[in-house]
Amino acid sequence: MIRIGMTEGMYILNLNGKEAEKILEVSKKISGDSSLEESICCIGVPICQMGIQNSQKMLNTIIDYFRENVDKETMHKLPRLYISGCPNSCGVHQIGSIGLTGKMKNIDGTPTDVFEIYICGNFEVGKSRLGTSIGDFKATDIPEFLHELAKITEGDFFEFATNNTEKVLEVASKYKL
Ligand code: SF4
Repeated sequence: MIRIGMTEGMYILNLNGKEAEKILEVSKKISGDSSLEESICCIGVPICQMGIQNSQKMLNTIIDYFRENVDKETMHKLPRLYISGCPNSCGVHQIGSIGLTGKMKNIDGTPTDVFEIYICGNFEVGKSRLGTSIGDFKATDIPEFLHELAKITEGDFFEFATNNTEKVLEVASKYKL
C-alpha cells in the first residue's frame, strides 16, 4: 500500500523487514536525508500553463549543486525550501523558512530567469506568519547564495534568520538584483 504525504513524500506500508531494506536500497538515489532534499515545489513550467518559471528545474539545480559542491554538515543547515514558479503560490513559498517565487526580469535588455526569495515564514499553531521578501535573485546565482547562507547559519535556520536578519541581508546584498 502506498500513501502520498502532504509534503510530497511517499509512505510504503505493510512491508516486512527484508522488503523495507530493498525499498531503502532502490530509493537511495531518488530520496534524500536532508531537509533541503525534502523541499516542496510546485509543478511549474512547462507543465503548468499559467506559470512563469520552471520551479522543478530550480529545485533540482539547487540539490545537484549541494550534492556536488557542499559537505553534508553544511547542507543539513538549510531548511526545507518552498518553491513556486509564479506568485500563484502553489508551492506555498510564504510559509517556509525559505521560500522562492518565480519571475522574469529585464536585465540590461535581456529577459532573465529570476526568483524572489522570502525568509522566516511559519505555519506553527499560534506562531503563523508570512515570510518577508529579501529581494529578487537571478536563478543562476541562487545555489551559491544558499550555500553562503548555509555557511553562516548556526542552529535552526528559522531561529537564526529571525534573530540575525542583518547577517542574512548582508549575504543577500552580494547577490540581490
Ligand atoms: S505556482 Fe504558478 S507555476 Fe507553480 S503550479 Fe502554481 S500557477 Fe503553476
